[in-house]
Amino acid sequence: MESGLQALVDLWDVDRELRSLRRELSSYPAEEKRRLERIQSLRQNSDRIRDGVRELQARLKEIEADVSSWKERIGKLEREAYGARDNSSLYAYQHQISTLRGEIGERDEEGIGLLEQIQAREAVIAAEQAKIDEEEKVLAEFRANVAREKSQIDVKVAELKKLRDAKLGGVGPAHLQIYEKMISSSERQPLAQVHDRTCQNCFTELTLNDYARVRSGKVVVQCKSCHCILYTNV
Ligand SMILES: [Zn+2]
Repeated sequence: MESGLQALVDLWDVDRELRSLRRELSSYPAEEKRRLERIQSLRQNSDRIRDGVRELQARLKEIEADVSSWKERIGKLEREAYGARDNSSLYAYQHQISTLRGEIGERDEEGIGLLEQIQAREAVIAAEQAKIDEEEKVLAEFRANVAREKSQIDVKVAELKKLRDAKLGGVGPAHLQIYEKMISSSERQPLAQVHDRTCQNCFTELTLNDYARVRSGKVVVQCKSCHCILYTNV
């Protein structure tokens, strides 16, 4: 291969590595965002359940207040019944007392049901909290890893940039101009090898004329279809 072209192929090796390191760096924020969103959604879920628990507790308090006032009322009725003058007023007192006891019994049942619901929900909240703690631990590890990897990548990038500068000197200006334009787009591939007279990037067949020019290595030949700078190992 012509030496200028070989230098360009070497340069692309360096740039490809740089590109992949930059891609790795740029993937971290999205990953961190995904993890934070997951934690936030777990927290929101927990908060919703906690709100439900608070409502149940408020209802439980109402029940306790009702029951306590009814118990006081029963005590008062019992004292009044003690001084009842005749059977009919005694029955009336007893009827009121038994009605209130019936109400208390119903409220107690409701209260027990509420307590069971509160306990069940608190267990769910504890399980959710365990998930949040785990996710936060994983996030902290992820951040520590990212910080470590970033500093490793920084070192590698600095080395590759030095290597890149060294390779640049060997590349002819005509090749370099086209190449720099091609790699300015991060998705684009700037170079393609030719095998069986076919561009290995887009698999378009070269004309015999272009193939001969690529083989000579003296001029810049770009693929008619994908615009890659073409080279052969021949
Ligand atoms: Zn092509």
